[in-house]
Order: sequence, then C-alpha cells, then structure tokens
Amino acid sequence: MDMLVPKTKLAKLNKPVSRKLRAYAFDPSLSLLTDTVQVNNIVYKVEWEELQQAGTKTLPAGEYIEIIDYDPASGVFYPPVDLNDPYLLAQDGLNPSVSNPQFHQQMVYAVIMTTIKNFERALGRKIQWSPHIYLTESNKIGGSSFVQRLRIYPHALRQANAYYNPQKKSLLFGYFPAKPANVQLQLPGGTVFTCLSHDVIAHETTHAILDGLHQRYIEDTHPDTRAFHEAFSDIVALFQHFTFPEVLKHQIAKTKGDLNAQNLLGQLAQQFGLAMGSYGSLRDAIGKTDPVTGEWTPQKPDPEEYATKMEFHDRGAVLVAAIFDAFLNIYKQRIKPLLRVSTGGEGDLHPDMVDLLANTASDTASRILKICVRALDYCPPVDINYGDYLRALITADVDMVAEDEKNYRVAFIESFQKRGIFPTGVKTMSVESLVHEPFPEFELAEDDEEIFIKFLKEFKEAVAYETSREKVFDTTKYFISGDKKKKITGLYDRINSKFILSNAGKKFAELSGLLFPEGTMACEGLGFGHSDYSDLAKYSVENLWLASRITPDDKIINHVIINLVQKRGIRVNIDAEQNFSVAGYFDPGKDKPDNGFIFRGGCTLIFDLDKMQLKYAIKKGIDDVERMERQYKYKNNIGADKGEVYFSDKTLATLSGPFAFMHSFTHQH
Ligand SMILES: [Zn+2]
Repeated sequence: MDMLVPKTKLAKLNKPVSRKLRAYAFDPSLSLLTDTVQVNNIVYKVEWEELQQAGTKTLPAGEYIEIIDYDPASGVFYPPVDLNDPYLLAQDGLNPSVSNPQFHQQMVYAVIMTTIKNFERALGRKIQWSPHIYLTESNKIGGSSFVQRLRIYPHALRQANAYYNPQKKSLLFGYFPAKPANVQLQLPGGTVFTCLSHDVIAHETTHAILDGLHQRYIEDTHPDTRAFHEAFSDIVALFQHFTFPEVLKHQIAKTKGDLNAQNLLGQLAQQFGLAMGSYGSLRDAIGKTDPVTGEWTPQKPDPEEYATKMEFHDRGAVLVAAIFDAFLNIYKQRIKPLLRVSTGGEGDLHPDMVDLLANTASDTASRILKICVRALDYCPPVDINYGDYLRALITADVDMVAEDEKNYRVAFIESFQKRGIFPTGVKTMSVESLVHEPFPEFELAEDDEEIFIKFLKEFKEAVAYETSREKVFDTTKYFISGDKKKKITGLYDRINSKFILSNAGKKFAELSGLLFPEGTMACEGLGFGHSDYSDLAKYSVENLWLASRITPDDKIINHVIINLVQKRGIRVNIDAEQNFSVAGYFDPGKDKPDNGFIFRGGCTLIFDLDKMQLKYAIKKGIDDVERMERQYKYKNNIGADKGEVYFSDKTLATLSGPFAFMHSFTHQH
C-alpha cells in the first residue's frame, strides 16, 4: 500500500489552462426561442491570462484589451465585472443577462479573446494591433509606437451600429431600440445591444486584427479593398460558429446533416436583422428570407455578382458566399461515406451519426478558417482584390500541405469561378497557375548572404522565444530601422546599401515590382538621402513577422514575412475621350498638383527559415500603368457609366440597405 508522505510545503499549483465564461453563442434573441435556448447559452473556454484590477473604471484589462464601460449618452460608468472574484470563477462567470452590464463586459471579453486566439493559432505568432503613428512638428510621420491594448467600449453609442476606430485603437459598440417587423421574434422598443452579439463582436475584432496585419487595407484603392475588410470579418465570425459543439450538433440534427438548408451556422447577426425590421438575420451566407412571404430560399451563385455589387457589405457578401460554398462542398464530399452507411429513413439521425457529422463539419470549418487566416500572409501589402486573395488561399495551403487529398484547393477555385472572380494575369483557373511561383533557389546571387540570410537568422534568434508582445514590437522595429547601440544594421539600410545603384538592384526591382534607381529612367540623377533614396518613389519596410506554424501533419514551418511598400506621386492626363496617360511624377512631400494622385506599390517577401531561401515575392508593381489607371478612374468616378468595375458616390448613396449597417470604420472620406 502506498503511503502519503507528509510534506512541509504544499505542491505549487499550475496556472489554469482556461477561464470559463458563460455567454451567448449567437445573441440574446435565440435564448427566447424554446428551440434554441438550450444551445445558445454556452461556456467559452478563454485561454487563461492574469487580469489586472486597475482601478474601478477599467476592467477587465488583460494583455490585449481593456474594457472601459462608459456610456456617454447616459453619462454613467458601469461598474466593472471582477472576473477574478472566486464566486465568479467557481460558477463560470455571470449568468447571461440582457439587463446586466457586467455580463455584457464578460461576453465582450470572452468573444474577443476567443477570436484573437483563433488568429494566433493559424498565424503561428502573437497578434499586434496596428501601431500608433505619431507626427513630427512639421506634420510628417515621425515614427510608430507599440499599442498594448485595444480599448473596448461596450456601450459607446446609441446607434444601430458598431465600429472599429483605427486611429483610436478602439471598438465601439452601439445599442438601440428594436423596430421589428415580426413582433413574435423581437419585442418592439426592446433594447438591442450589439455587444451581446457574438457575430458583431467577432466581426469588429477581426477588423482590428486585420488592420494590425495590413495597415494599407483601409485605403479605398479598389472596389475590393474595403469590401475585403468586411468579408473577412464576416468569414471569421461565421466559421467560429462551428467551434461551439452544442450549437453544431443541434443544427446538424435539425437539418439532418444538410447544411445547405436554412440554419443558424450560416447566418450572421440574427437579432440585429430582426430588430431592423428584416425577416431574417442581417446577413446570410447561403440564402435569404423573402421580405413579402417570409420564406427562406437558398442563394444561387451568380457570375454577374462580382461585376455588379458595389456597396462594401454587398460586395463583401460575394466573397463570404464563395468561401462558405467551398466549405459546404468539402463537407458534403466528406460526409458521403458516412451517409452511405447510415440506414437513412424518415426519423431523426442517430445521435452517433450526429456526432460524426458534427465532427466532420467542425474539422472542415477549422481547416478553412486556418487557411483563410494564413492566406493573409500571402497577400500583397496594398490594393488587395479578391483574385489576389484566391491566389493567397491556394499558395498558403500548398505551403502547408503537399497533397490536397480532400480537394480544398479545387473547392476554393470552383466557388470563386462560379461568382465570376478571376485573378488578373492568370491564364487558367487551375491550382498550378494560381499558386504563386516559388523561387527554387535564392536568386539574388552574391548579395543574398549578407543582406538577407544573416539578417533573417539574427532576427529569428531575437524574437523566436520572446513572449512579450511589446518586446517583439520594439525588437522588430530596430531590425527594420537599425540600432546603433546593438550594432544592428536595419533591413531598410541593408536594402539601400545593397540595391541602390547596383546590378543586384535591377534584379531586386524585378523581383519586388518596386523601383530601384538603376533600372528606372525616372529616378536617374537624383540625390539619395538616408531616409529615402529618391524623391520620386519612397519605400518603407512596413512589416516584419516571424511565423512558426504547425502543419496538419505536425511539422513546424518557420517563415519570415516582409512587407515593403513604395509610394509615388503620379501626374495624370485625361483626354476628351477619358483616355488615361501618365504625364509625369511628383514628390508628395513637396507638391500637391491638381492632376496628381498618390499611388502605392508593394511586395510581400516570404522566406523559409528552415531551407534559408526566398519562397515567394508577391507584388503589386509601382510601375504598373494599368493599375494606376484603374485606381485613378475608380477614385475619380471616371468610366463608371461604361459598366466598368468602379462605383461612384451616387451608387453608394442609393445602396444603403440593411446591409450597410454594420460599418467598420468611423473615419469616412
Ligand atoms: Zn465591418
């Protein structure tokens, strides 16, 4: 018999893995229906972190967010919930309640942290909020500083809306009285809190995370760029539905496994939609409810959609539908053998079958969400369009999984094709032509060793084991700009000294799509300063990331991702027939000509650290006249009447249906 050995000291306990918090899977409206109440109240398992007890007005405050519950309309601070209270810890947080502001804070915390962790698992690194940009006295960009926490205001506005504010690094959630068309589902005049909707919270959080990854995507340079922000935010919210086992099983049982039928998983913001007088959710990835009959019908992909839908959220819905369709097709393929062995019949599915189908759905959804998130690292840093994203999806997946046994790639291609989305400059819609061309060997010849390889090794050593986000940010910054004390030459100066006025520069210009003086007429004869090599095309190293990702077969892949962005002032000539030509260039720091506009090019370089080679250079050329023309005409509403893919302010004004309500940005042009 074993004896208990008396010890003088208690064994030290490990930190808990997660903090369990009760909240709605969707929003409060589904807790009012007998059918869904049992699955709508769920427990979120949020990765454990210490929460600060920082005064009475700011709580909870963790590593990534702080919740400030000030309600300007009523002029009150709602007392903060203390998630460290032993009573709350022992009962998985407060009970879901519409009337308890402390529960609102708890729900916002749970959903935001869940969303952040989903990103980090897919990206293979900690997320950063977009840095704070500070200006010098002469109003020029002086530099950037670390943003520790996003500020969350659960009751910021009396408005049927929620926002991400990229300047103030905050999420603002509104609340409003319902004006429902169907009083059975939503009480008229009852208050709807957007901070109680999983979908609204996940959507706004994704806007903020995406802004931290690609700071230029909030620039409206193509009809797709801001639509992409909306679509991507919806995609994350939708696929998170599949991570709630209770909801998933319930919906699988209800639809007998047919997720093409109307179901909660494919819908976004139910209560919001109902409260705004619609008969269904605010957005639905697979179908829509007829406003007259109230009947739900599945959506059919329309190859004209991409060419005609121009309002951000409508256009975003095209991309969401394409991704969701790819998911459904893979799911249907995967469950075929399961359904074959099932006895079928009229009755309910056997609970074991429900489990099997639910596992397949959740596994497929989680793989799709991971591919969608990882693809962000394979996108150009500026001017993204849906075609670029398709290529990024394919390349990201090829990079992680050699064999596409379950046909994920084909499913993506097919569903984009059905909606008329074709990447430019690609000959066929096949995996082979869509995947970005890898560089079998580093092609920068003798210059590669010092400028990149040594640099990459040093960078990896400096940040790989760093757990503090702030330290990663600061270290990355001196790896970009250099640090004399630590004797580190920054990437910016390395590129300057190696590529400017050199033969290697020509190659690098070709590879990156950016301008380096030797290969270009426009920059000849100009002086090259320290901070920029040319008055005509300034570049910056916008991001430098180390990613350590785990493949589905448990291999670790280490990548360094570099985003270079270049800016140029273009003088434009438009003739009587509205033909576009470049009249010359200008320095945006000095001039502001009437016929000028600022044009950006950029390049994403992906290095494989295990093989020490450049894998991909994904570019948007700074010398691409076609792109200049498209962008200029889009921004100036030229050619919109010719049926080209540009939209005018007029179109925007007439297209402000219910879909326009979930705006993302407070700053408007
Ligand atoms: Zn949005």
